[in-house]
Amino acid sequence: MTLATMDEATRVLAAAFGYESFRPGQEELVRAVLQGRDVLGVMPTGAGKSLAYQIPAIVLPGLAIVISPLVSLMGDQVRSLRENGVRAAFLNSTLSASEQGAVIREALDGAYDILYVAPERLADPRFMEFAAQARISLVAVDEAHCVSQWGQDFRPSYLAIGQFIDSLAVRPPVCALTATATGRVRADIVRLLGLWDPFELVTGFDRPNLRFDVKRLAPKDKLAHIMSYVREHPGDSGIVYCSTRKDVEKVHEALREAGISATRYHAGLSKDERLANQEAFILDNAPVMVATNAFGMGIDKSNVRFVIHHNLPGSMEAYYQEAGRAGRDGEPGECLLLWSDGDISTCRYFIEAEVKNDELAPEEVEVVRASRRRMLEAMVGYCYTTECLRGYILRYFGEAARGACGNCGNCSGEAKAVDVTNEARAVMRCVHQLRGRFGKGVVVDVLRGAHTARVEQLGLGSCGFFGALAEGAPRRSDGKPLSATVPAGRIREVVELLAAGGYLVVSEGKYPTVGFGPRFREAAEPGFSLLMKEVPAKAARKGRRRGSTIDAGDGLEAPVHERSEDEELFQRLRALRRSIAEVNEVPPYVVFSDATLRDMCLLRPASREAFLEVSGVGAVKLDRYGEAFLKEIASFEDEKANDATPSSSSFDV
Ligand code: ADP
Ligand code: MG
Repeated sequence: MTLATMDEATRVLAAAFGYESFRPGQEELVRAVLQGRDVLGVMPTGAGKSLAYQIPAIVLPGLAIVISPLVSLMGDQVRSLRENGVRAAFLNSTLSASEQGAVIREALDGAYDILYVAPERLADPRFMEFAAQARISLVAVDEAHCVSQWGQDFRPSYLAIGQFIDSLAVRPPVCALTATATGRVRADIVRLLGLWDPFELVTGFDRPNLRFDVKRLAPKDKLAHIMSYVREHPGDSGIVYCSTRKDVEKVHEALREAGISATRYHAGLSKDERLANQEAFILDNAPVMVATNAFGMGIDKSNVRFVIHHNLPGSMEAYYQEAGRAGRDGEPGECLLLWSDGDISTCRYFIEAEVKNDELAPEEVEVVRASRRRMLEAMVGYCYTTECLRGYILRYFGEAARGACGNCGNCSGEAKAVDVTNEARAVMRCVHQLRGRFGKGVVVDVLRGAHTARVEQLGLGSCGFFGALAEGAPRRSDGKPLSATVPAGRIREVVELLAAGGYLVVSEGKYPTVGFGPRFREAAEPGFSLLMKEVPAKAARKGRRRGSTIDAGDGLEAPVHERSEDEELFQRLRALRRSIAEVNEVPPYVVFSDATLRDMCLLRPASREAFLEVSGVGAVKLDRYGEAFLKEIASFEDEKANDATPSSSSFDV
């Protein structure tokens, strides 16, 4: 590769996409592909993986084949590219046979630089014939983790990709991209796609523009919390994830009744309705989406401002992927996890119930369950941790955290840590003596000294540790408490916290048990201590606005009038974007992202040259929309200038 090719890539970045510089990782990936190497790029959602193949696709002669899992989104991806003047097309089952034939003919004629296809397509004889004749510049595999059974989104049709690549007469470079970082999945991608000595690039997983927060709420309070959050962020686009269809319906209905344009998505809806609702969300006709985790894979709506979880997800992997759908445009996003005790039990129950023997041998079932339990415990640990939430996430994904981030619920200090070391020791001793034979309920009741029917039936009412945590309870002559005065809640939490830390393993289902976890020995060491997060009952819930990275009090805040003026202009530009989008029948963020509109508010361009300076504006978009936006900005500036001259009314008393 000559230097000129990389120059060409930088030129395309600016001219077609309107970006001044590469984001971390993009340049290295582009360079490697241009050198003809296979690459594996692991970057978090929103990092900008698409450019890693789109730029080489434009620079290299020939056609790039992009394999992407979701048929429903290819249309949007291609529309976005065409908006930037990139010669792109897609081939999938939404096209009629004759439309497909036309795309293939045009592609053979060299009309495109990029062709999106679903993995199923690779097995189609007509497509294979086409691929044999076409000059293929590269094969890109988006969401490459779908090839691995260790990931959550395994797609058997991805297994055919390796063979497809092998079948090509001239092997092009292969570019695999994913946000899933675990070593096992990465190894699967390299092996199953048959990558040749790939250049592997793993960027940091931090998403500095996202604010993380965790709130423990009684199930009945969750809805009210979501309602007031959405009301406090009018017009913002967001996703509310619920674990069940029933909850989706409930939250969706409540939002609609409050007059909020919300839509919904779950597997119980017809395919047509799912598509229509997804489209309404993408087009910002219904900016709030209430959905189960069936929603979202491959959605690249860039202006999602918040992701709220109504329930606890089953793993940190799932949580970070779902929460990461906020703020892809780099503007502030908020990720709020709401949870209650019941959520943990529900997840545990699913692990026992969902992982069935149908396809797996009994030993395999146990292995899968054990791994899902570990994943869940890490998720629970996130709920309980008193440390920086971002730090917790990054450590989980194997990165060193850099101390308090200052931009999460724990760093902003609403929660305080209480020492529960003594309680933890008592729980560990109790579990030891019960030899892991009983469930959480029994352990808790024994410790709090509750003479329940079950406890009596098991003959545990007079054992040595009965009532060990029943502080202050009235005692019988033998020192055992008469009745339980200590609430079960606190002890239950300590059990959960110990499980989250790997000291215990808790299972639920038909035969619930609490046993020792891999780290149980550490709990007996002298230095052992355990802190639990306690949120004051009346923790003032601050209605945070966007831009919470800039917290009041650190002197970084812009003067109020400037901010509100920018905000006013932003709203005007957003309205303009929406009307343009409607006329052109494209999603608003395809016209310009929120980040681009924000940049316009900051730069206030007054000429075409100045407009090109705005991040996200390339030559094609300048021609298409420059005039309309320049006009809007100019008239806004005029109005402001007139407002500033004192009018007679300002002297009215
Ligand atoms: P991913 O596939 O990694 O989740 P995308 O490729 O969808 O991320 O990109 C996310 C957003 O970042 C898009 O809105 C994209 O336009 C924007 N983006 C990508 N690269 C850059 C860049 N170099 N400068 C500014 N914005 C970028
Ligand atoms: Mg992507």
